[in-house]
Amino acid sequence: MPTIKNVTCPICGTFCDDIELTVKNNKITDVKNACAMGEAKFLSYADPHHRNLKPLIRKNGELVETTWNEAIKKAAQILAEANYPLLYGWSSTNCEAIRLGVELAEEIGGVIDNTSSVCHGPSILSIQDQGISTCTLGQIRHRADLIVYWGSDPYSAHPRHLERYTAFTDGRFEPSEWRRYVSRLRGVTGKKKLARASKLVLMAEVSIPPITGNQVPPTLEMEEERKLIVIDVRRTRSAEFADYFIQVEPNKDYELLQAMRMLVKNEELEVDQVAGIPVEVLEKIVDVMINCKFGIFFFGVGLTMSAGKHRNIDAALALTRDLNFRTKFVIMPMRGHFNVTGANTVFLWQTGYPFAIDFSQGYPTYNPGETSTVDILARDESDAALVIASDPVANFPKNATQNLVKNPLIVIDPEKSATTLMADVVLPSAFVGIEAEGTAYRMDSVPLPLKQVVKPPRNCLSDEKILQRILKEVRRLKKTTKEA
Ligand code: SF4
Repeated sequence: MPTIKNVTCPICGTFCDDIELTVKNNKITDVKNACAMGEAKFLSYADPHHRNLKPLIRKNGELVETTWNEAIKKAAQILAEANYPLLYGWSSTNCEAIRLGVELAEEIGGVIDNTSSVCHGPSILSIQDQGISTCTLGQIRHRADLIVYWGSDPYSAHPRHLERYTAFTDGRFEPSEWRRYVSRLRGVTGKKKLARASKLVLMAEVSIPPITGNQVPPTLEMEEERKLIVIDVRRTRSAEFADYFIQVEPNKDYELLQAMRMLVKNEELEVDQVAGIPVEVLEKIVDVMINCKFGIFFFGVGLTMSAGKHRNIDAALALTRDLNFRTKFVIMPMRGHFNVTGANTVFLWQTGYPFAIDFSQGYPTYNPGETSTVDILARDESDAALVIASDPVANFPKNATQNLVKNPLIVIDPEKSATTLMADVVLPSAFVGIEAEGTAYRMDSVPLPLKQVVKPPRNCLSDEKILQRILKEVRRLKKTTKEA
């Protein structure tokens, strides 16, 4: 059976490119090196119960099978006749399709937006304002001796991030800290077992002191090893094996960041605690940051979407800048959706703006909060939409969703979702990175090739092909209307 090596996983922004797949009769039968999330996707993506396998069109209130020609004509007609159409999604497709999406948005004078407008949008606003001191994941793997995850739980959302790029990887100049993690985990497991046994035997609750907390643990004082700090509002799985976990009070990240900036600049804090953290603990943590050789902040939507939003990121970027007067420090957003970085990058090099781009005046304009999808829908301004590789019906606010589905809705997606169920036209696509090749950007903005490892089902086309056909038909319709 053929084994395909070095496949890039198309699920999260970690982009593990060491996946090995065994393929038999155009089916993936075995997966090596992927995390549980990646493995489940590779083994179940073809399940016909979850797939869109034929073009569908809504007739008399029902979605019925149709031909590709009729579905493309209907989709193009909806878009060509709309006054203010929305094109939303783009984070789970390849850059080639995203480029065509921008061309289509310009052609129909619509708005094109990607999922970063509801996740790392504030981070992008801040990075564009302030600039960013950053690097690639490869540099972090080999050189970083202090890793800080802020408002992010890589263990759950990017399961191989720690193993491939940060605390548990063996870099050229920095060894892995996995042995320390295993011994700490054994300690935690042992204590949990002891608690369970005591409960059974003594019929009483036994309180087990936490392994880490808001006290300075001895591990931070060790000199030579890579260190891991987790800052979050709750004790996540990642926090369990960090050298130190700082539990910040909800919506107090901004205060904590500014307090850290003061300490980095040797200024005194005239309070006992900030955001629930005693000042003496903060001083020790900031000492660790100043005394590292190469530090990195990875921040997630826990920081971006808590109170303060892009102001939190302003403060985090400023803290990184301040730390660079004392040592080397970089910062990077933990991008979640597979090719969301690619969507921002392609939008940027095509229009100058990373998301929420409005072509209604014949040229690109950008004003997040006004031209972003949720805001347009909440104001009930759009009159048609095309959603690609995304499921806004499942996660947008209620009024935005109601306004999205009351107008004609086209969906391009390989999978059935709440959005496809509400659509007027469903165009079944091939899975990018499994059934279709292309290019996508990792979270550190490094572009990687995606492989086609199996053929798509007979009636499924690539996103690129579908968009090319819609674009061609839209141009034909517009030409006919002009000539009439
Ligand atoms: Fe795929 Fe992300 Fe898991 Fe890597 S960590 S195998 S990219 S889902």
